[in-house]
Amino acid sequence: MGQPIGEAGGPTSPASLLGKYPVKDVINTPRISHHAPRCSRPQTLYLATLAPSVKSDRGYAEAGICASVSRMSATTHTDRLHLSCLEDMPHELFIGGKWTPADNHRLLTSFRPSTGETLATVAHAGASDVNRAVAAAGAAGRPGSRWHRMSPAARSRVLHRIGDLIGEHADRLALLDCLDNGKPLRVARAGDVPAAAAVFHYMAGWPGRLNGEHVPLYTGSPERHLALTVPEPVGVVAAIVPWNFPLYMAAAKVAPALAAGCTVVLKPAEQTPLSALALAQLTQEAGLPPGVLNVVTGDGGTGAALAAHPGVDKITFTGSTEVGRSIVRAAAVDFRRVTLELGGKSPNIVFGDADLPRAMAGAAHAIFYNQGETCVAGSRLYVHRPVFDEVVAGIRERAAAIRLGDGLDRDTDMGPLISAEHRARVLSYLRSARDGGAQVSGGHPPDTPGFFCAPAVVTGADPQAPVVREEVFGPVLVAEPFDTVQEAVAMANDSPYGLAAGVFTRDPGLAHQVGRRLRAGTVWINSWHVLDPALPFGGMRASGWGREMGRAGVDAFLETKTLVNDLGSHQWGPAPAAK
Ligand code: NDP
Repeated sequence: MGQPIGEAGGPTSPASLLGKYPVKDVINTPRISHHAPRCSRPQTLYLATLAPSVKSDRGYAEAGICASVSRMSATTHTDRLHLSCLEDMPHELFIGGKWTPADNHRLLTSFRPSTGETLATVAHAGASDVNRAVAAAGAAGRPGSRWHRMSPAARSRVLHRIGDLIGEHADRLALLDCLDNGKPLRVARAGDVPAAAAVFHYMAGWPGRLNGEHVPLYTGSPERHLALTVPEPVGVVAAIVPWNFPLYMAAAKVAPALAAGCTVVLKPAEQTPLSALALAQLTQEAGLPPGVLNVVTGDGGTGAALAAHPGVDKITFTGSTEVGRSIVRAAAVDFRRVTLELGGKSPNIVFGDADLPRAMAGAAHAIFYNQGETCVAGSRLYVHRPVFDEVVAGIRERAAAIRLGDGLDRDTDMGPLISAEHRARVLSYLRSARDGGAQVSGGHPPDTPGFFCAPAVVTGADPQAPVVREEVFGPVLVAEPFDTVQEAVAMANDSPYGLAAGVFTRDPGLAHQVGRRLRAGTVWINSWHVLDPALPFGGMRASGWGREMGRAGVDAFLETKTLVNDLGSHQWGPAPAAK
């Protein structure tokens, strides 16, 4: 998923959270340590090294991080900052409105990508926990339940309240995603979190507008039959989300499902479970009835158990094409509904007449935003040959200027990749590109802790090379020149994916016609990563099935029931007598 609300356009300026405080001075070393849990609940507390010059917790408290300082050995000459946002975090499963350990008491560890060290441990749900969560969701949505009886106005108020609470807790939520995912705090605070709140507010507008239709029968008597279509919630929804936009992805699935009147079992990615648990807390505070949202933290096995559960009526999934395929297989057994938002290899076409500085900045943003870990990343760049060298040089310059670092550092432009395994995968694409004779600039892992990878630009690659054909899901751009419009469109469409595409040109007619020819769910013109809760989003072919957001996104959680009432034939005459 791309940046849902432009960083610069977000309601809070990136500087507002950390700009006031000398975070670069505070978090002046990537060394992180942790100590034993203070309480019996399974958790690991995160401690950041605090520079001696900043020994007050006031700045962090004002910044909403609610820090408290515990003095360590004087010989270390450092204090350690305990981020109590993690101490207050629930670490158990959220089922039926209650926090509960996993039946088998198994735990799952979340690591901090900036350092590779343990961040937190949470419950690891097994099949019996999934059973409990699905049963709770089923009961909460049953006819006659509180949720089922709730008026559209009341449901709308709850959704707005969740959106408000996300806004009120924005600093904490941004910090959780920054620590868990590695992304820059200012990006999470200005992008992910306001976007998650916006989805709830937007979806809050739908419950009162989900009307059906009166349908005049085409072949029957217009007076005898009363025929209606009635939209009904699809039922229990399994929402399985990835790690690249943890809070936002959860919101993007949960909010429309609730707007439609469904109940949900949410399975966050094992790498980033924390903000989903925080979201569950907020839904409780907002008055969502118990069992309407359940959260099961776990691994792929937990997701598979959920996807295969016969009590689940619909699966909505964002993640890899491979897992998407396995979900389709699981759902096919008893024909449960599925929405899939899978990966992409999105093409970006730059014509020679484009505003080139804008196109270079746009192309760099398209691929390097969020470490390139976005499904809509503009990872294939096609540039009109006369300006190819200039555009590629401009993007290389921009890539080289990107500052890698800890997400807590306000100067950081790009955080680490999500895990060591994922970085190894990204680097293997670059290695094979070099081995195949391509020119690769950047792409080096710096010699620091954490899973960092410098942004890379690849030219001269074989069009059939894996780096050109496959989703890398990292900051790796592949650029190729083209000569004609037809050639550009053909190259862009030569992919099994079809999620997003872009066109940079000053000619609106060319942009429109090329946009119509591109096989992609979203086409951006002179822009990238412009997403909105009102805009349908999704892909074609290997990029998935269905659309999220907008009216289409709510419809995805509704069944249309046709209700036909044969009213009989009545003779016109005396009114019927009382019985
Ligand atoms: P996955 O598709 O494995 O993970 C996405 C979600 O599905 C996670 O919650 C995961 O749980 C869960 N899951 C894993 N296996 C199953 C299963 N058999 N049944 C049901 N749910 C399952 O993505 P990865 O994290 O492994 O990333 C691999 C690649 O996928 C990336 O390199 C990228 O190419 C693509 N991807 C695309 C995303 C997008 O936005 N379209 C987002 C993330 C990845 P768990 O995390 O616990 O394994």
